[in-house]
Amino acid sequence: MEAKVNLHTRAVHSGDRKRTGSWVPVTTPIHTATSYFYDDVGDLDRSFEGTLIGPSYARHGNPTNEALEELIADLEGGSGALACASGMSAVQLAILAALTDRRRVLLAANDLYGATINMLMKVLEPAGIETHFVDFNDPAAVEAAVAAHKPGAMLMETISNPLLRVAPLDRIGEIAKRTDTQLVVDSTFSTPLVLRPLEHGATFVVHSVTKYLAGHGDVLGGIVVSTPDQMPFLRSLAKATGPLLGPFEAYLTMRGVKTFPLRMERQCANAVATAKALAAHPSVEKVNFPGNADHPDAATAARLFAPGLFGAMISFQIRENGAASRDRIFRFMNALKMVVPATSLGDVQTMVLYPVISSHRELAPKHRARLGIQDNLVRLSVGIEAAEDIIADLDQALRA
Ligand SMILES: *Cc1c(COP(=O)(O)O)cnc(C)c1O
Repeated sequence: MEAKVNLHTRAVHSGDRKRTGSWVPVTTPIHTATSYFYDDVGDLDRSFEGTLIGPSYARHGNPTNEALEELIADLEGGSGALACASGMSAVQLAILAALTDRRRVLLAANDLYGATINMLMKVLEPAGIETHFVDFNDPAAVEAAVAAHKPGAMLMETISNPLLRVAPLDRIGEIAKRTDTQLVVDSTFSTPLVLRPLEHGATFVVHSVTKYLAGHGDVLGGIVVSTPDQMPFLRSLAKATGPLLGPFEAYLTMRGVKTFPLRMERQCANAVATAKALAAHPSVEKVNFPGNADHPDAATAARLFAPGLFGAMISFQIRENGAASRDRIFRFMNALKMVVPATSLGDVQTMVLYPVISSHRELAPKHRARLGIQDNLVRLSVGIEAAEDIIADLDQALRA
C-alpha cells in the first residue's frame, strides 16, 4: 500500500495483509498460539533478543495484536503501540513507562476519569508514586506546579469527563518539552480523528479502545501509543507485567477501527445537533458541549480539534422543579425508549449515564462538588442513529 494519506484510508488498510507465503489474507487472522518456533533455533534466539521481528511467546506479543498496534500507531502518528486488556491497564502501563527512569512524581489534571483518580490515589500513591493535582486548563498553574514538584511525568485527558472541559494540550505540551517532563495523554474521548496528541508534545497516548475505536460495545481493551525513544520501556514493562489484550479482542477491535472514522464523523455531527436541541429545551438548565459558543473552552477546542468536530459527548443538567435530583434523573432515564441508560460511551448506540451512581460513584460527594459535578448532571454519548430520533427520545423523556 503506497498512498496511505487520509485517516479514513489508513483505518481500512494499515496493519493488515501481512504476506506469510504466496497468499495473503485480506484481514488479519486471530492467532491463538501461545508459543512459536522457527526452522532455525537461532531465529527463536534472535526473536527473544529482539533483533529478529517475529513472535516467540504470547506475553511478548502475537501477530493479531501487532497488526492492531501498527494500525493505531499509524492513526496517531506514533512509532509503536501496545494493546492492553483494558483502558485502565493501558493508563497504568503508560504511567509506569513514563516514570521508568524519572522522579516518581506525577502531576495530574484535576479533571480525570473516575477510575484513573482512584488508581492514582489507591494504587500508585501507596506504591510510592507521589501525585499532585492541578487545573490543566490553567497553563500558568501547571507551569508553577512543575517548578514546585519537579514531576517525572504529567497526566491529562483531552476532553474531560463528565464536564467536557478541553485542556490547552498545545500549551501543556510546550511546558512538557521545555521542562523535559513526560506527557501522558488519555485521548479516549477525542480519538485520532479529532486530535492527535503526539503532534502537540505528548510522549504517550492512551485509549480505552472499549469506547470509540472498537465502538460496538463488545470489547474491553486499551492501547498505549508512543514515540520511538519510549517504546523499549513500554515493551519491557509489558513483558514483565503481562497486561496484554487477548487475540480475539484484538481482532474485534481491528474490525471496529475500519469504520471508526465514519462512525465518529457521524457521531460528532449528531452531537452538534443534539447539543443545540438540548440548549433550547425548557427542561434543561445547562449544556456542556465544547462546540457550543458558551462553553468555557470553545476557543481551545476550535484551535486544537479538526475543523467542525468537537467529539460526541455532551453533559447537561436537568431542571429539578422541586424534585430531588436523584428522583428527577431516575424518572428521565426510566422514560427513555431508544437511548440506552448504560455505563459505557462511544458505542454505535446513544447512551446516557448518571455520573453520581456510576463513573463518579467512588468519589466522596465533597470531592464531586469540588469538581463541579452537580447532582442533576447526566452524561450523553451520542451514537450513529438519526439525529432527529435521538432528539425526539430525549425530548419525550425530559417531559416525562
Ligand atoms: C473508559 C475509560 C477509561 C478506562 O477504560 P476501560 O476500558 O474501561 O478500562 C479510561 N479513560 C477514559 C477517558 C475512559 O473513558
